Amino acid sequence: MAAFEYFKHNVGKAADLLKLSEEERALFMTPDRVLKAELEVSMDDGRIETFPAYRVQFNNARGPYKGGIRFHKDADEDEVMALAAMMAIKCAVVDIPFGGAKGGVTVDPKKLSEGELERLSRAYVRAFADNLGPDTDVPAPDVYTNPEIMRIMLDEYETLTGTKAPAMITGKPLENGGSLGRDTATADGAIYVLEALLEDQHRSLEGVEVAVQGAGNAGAQAARLVEAHGGKVVALADSHGSLLNPEGIDTSAVLALKANGASVHDAVDFGTAGNAEAVISAVCDVLIPAALEEVITAKNAGTVMATVVLEVANGPVTPEADELLTARAIGVVPDVLANAGGVTVSYFEWLQNRAGEVWTHERVTERLKDTMRDAYRDVADFAYERGITLREAAYALALTRILAARKL
Ligand code: GLU
Repeated sequence: MAAFEYFKHNVGKAADLLKLSEEERALFMTPDRVLKAELEVSMDDGRIETFPAYRVQFNNARGPYKGGIRFHKDADEDEVMALAAMMAIKCAVVDIPFGGAKGGVTVDPKKLSEGELERLSRAYVRAFADNLGPDTDVPAPDVYTNPEIMRIMLDEYETLTGTKAPAMITGKPLENGGSLGRDTATADGAIYVLEALLEDQHRSLEGVEVAVQGAGNAGAQAARLVEAHGGKVVALADSHGSLLNPEGIDTSAVLALKANGASVHDAVDFGTAGNAEAVISAVCDVLIPAALEEVITAKNAGTVMATVVLEVANGPVTPEADELLTARAIGVVPDVLANAGGVTVSYFEWLQNRAGEVWTHERVTERLKDTMRDAYRDVADFAYERGITLREAAYALALTRILAARKL
């Protein structure tokens, strides 16, 4: 099943639950706009290379389109459309006044030099600038894009439009109008949600055994936070392999090695090496997929040992796997709730830019915590009252909020 089919599957279930009309359902089945371009980039060796690029604006009933831009070799129209649609749901789940959008460039960014990446980033903004802006569509980082790329994109936009417009993009470096706390927001938000869920079960993170798949920005921070809250990281994986240690991995030591170019499974002083798949079936309480889509599938869902799966990545569990996990009474905290901390602090950044304010780290953290805990409470109550999953509840709640905001 392709990514957008997954989305339609989730929306379809929520629409059945809410008994939506055909006309109401249709609103969630097609994007408002699919923008495409071929970006021409001059490479360091003088050649011109062309990269397919997308910006999908899914729905803006609740506010300006909002969502990251990913640079990935597998990014395509279907994936970007699915992620744009999920952004609309995500912003509604945490109740921030944004719609949903996503961008993508089909490129392997690891093969590009710094200069080539900069020219690609500028070309992206030139291609879509007419459709971007603080009140129109506000991009942000996603897979393999970062604050520096946001700075470059803002610079290109401001040069093109002759305006000062820091609120046109979020996830910027601090000195360019970024927000304190944005860099760790996705993982911070996920851990607030996990804590709230564990509280419902009269548990805390103290002593909880966690397996983290993904050692990028979100995965690494999630692992650090688990440790900081007294939990144990018993498995950690990157795209090359896993490291397992039932006594708990020294994540800072392993992440320091990774920062120096090693893969986590090379850090054999801190655990036992396994293949990339080993993290999925690690003995643990909580499994955190924090990398890419479709890592828990019908094939390996039966091997999951955790009682909770926290989706820090977008779309890590396929619908078939979702059903298998649910049938085994494994609770799945859906991406549209679990990873909404990133876009929530993007909203705070946008607010600060518009008001010319700089919030303290404490203010950002407190507001993020409140937002995530409120969102969890809304979704969990909706689910418990109806005997449905957290994913079904999150989608149903979001659909209700988007429909309520729609212009009649
Ligand atoms: N790329 C992140 C996400 O998928 C953040 C989006 C944003 O901050 O706009 O939620």
